[in-house]
Amino acid sequence: MPHKLDLRSGTPVWSAYRAPKVPVERLTRDVKADVLIVGMGISGAMMAEALTRDGHSVICIDRRGPLKGSTAATTALVQFEIDQPLTKLSHIIGTDAARQAWRRSRMALFNLRGRTDELGIECRMQGVPSLYLAGNKLDAAGLRKEAEARQQAGIAATFLSHAALHDAFGIDRAAGILSHDNLALDPRKLTAGLLNIALARKARFYAPADATAVENHRQSVTIATSSGPMITAKHLVLTTGYELLDIVPAVSHRIISTWAIATRPQLSRIWPRAAMIWEASDPYLYMRATSDGRVICGGEDEDFADEARRDALSPQKTKRLEEKLNRIFPLLDTTAHFAWSGAFGATGSGLPIIGSLPGHPRVHAVMGYGGNGITFSQIASEIVSASIAGGRDADATLFGFKA
Ligand SMILES: Cc1cc2nc3c(=O)[nH]c(=O)nc-3n(C[C@H](O)[C@H](O)[C@H](O)COP(=O)(O)OP(=O)(O)OC[C@H]3O[C@@H](n4cnc5c(N)ncnc54)[C@H](O)[C@@H]3O)c2cc1C
Repeated sequence: MPHKLDLRSGTPVWSAYRAPKVPVERLTRDVKADVLIVGMGISGAMMAEALTRDGHSVICIDRRGPLKGSTAATTALVQFEIDQPLTKLSHIIGTDAARQAWRRSRMALFNLRGRTDELGIECRMQGVPSLYLAGNKLDAAGLRKEAEARQQAGIAATFLSHAALHDAFGIDRAAGILSHDNLALDPRKLTAGLLNIALARKARFYAPADATAVENHRQSVTIATSSGPMITAKHLVLTTGYELLDIVPAVSHRIISTWAIATRPQLSRIWPRAAMIWEASDPYLYMRATSDGRVICGGEDEDFADEARRDALSPQKTKRLEEKLNRIFPLLDTTAHFAWSGAFGATGSGLPIIGSLPGHPRVHAVMGYGGNGITFSQIASEIVSASIAGGRDADATLFGFKA
């Protein structure tokens, strides 16, 4: 597992919008807290808000600074629909577990929406439908079975035939599944909003501060930082994205490269209901709209992590994304006004790994991989905060490290 990655390149669309500043201090002396969170992206922000809400004293550190990792590059289609179709996940982990993972994802989005409203965070969050199009992973017959499997799990899903898809959305594909209540949002505004709420509750933020080693004691954990000071806490939460500390066990996953573009705000109307659109393909193409009418389109994934290779391919990938978007919606202006790329992690099952490390009950790791990373960050904040409060989330085993 890489300890340090060049997480992203290019200019993500979010730079067009202002995000609140998150003030940080320099770490110049040893400090203590109930909980230390390493990593100040969306996962660390959700964790900091949840833990300060529970009354814990919290310190957050980041080797780069808040919002400077993968979170700045995400396209932020926050979906309950897990990248791994329910029918396929059932073959990997069994029907009951797969249904429960899907249901928990769905609940996570309701919880995230309620949480954001309750906290009054302005992050342009909108509930949007989504369209899952037939592709090389699931054809029309596969999509029909997938829609039935979701319905049997209690998750609404409408199968659209070729004709129904064309009538409703003007898209020429073999079939689709229409779902509701996914979320489109601005990830920097959400992350900064959550961090600033934690700060108002007396959390302390230090950056740049690089966690280099972890020492376990019976009642506490001590973390060494590259600049010298030590941090002692009753619990350590690692929300370090795709970069992991040595103490985290190797799990089956891969780091790949992905690309995205965003257009100028469109003069003509976006497709009906600005539904998120993604394909049952591997790799898949996906798209969403921003609240001011830009179109974000991503995909073109490649199975390597080398940054130099990733950057060299960027002009070609930008062109391909423009062309693919144009093929689906010929009337849109698909010229890329923003183009960026990033490292992207994926596990075989498509599920995250969340929980205390085997043999280290005070060290909790959040590995929210894949295209549902933000949904999984919400689930992680629920599972880890329950554990630190002395309880046990009902899905802790489903998502936990396997001993
Ligand atoms: C192009 C792209 C598109 C994506 N699209 C989507 C999408 O549509 N929907 C979705 O849900 N997800 C998507 N994702 C995934 C999503 O962006 C990630 O799951 C999410 O941003 C991860 O957040 P994080 O807080 O875990 O990691 P990060 O934002 O990377 O934060 C981790 C932080 O930890 C810090 N850190 C690491 N190691 C150390 C250390 N040793 N000491 C101190 N600090 C450390 C890093 O500096 C970093 O700031 C996409 C990702 C990419 C790249």
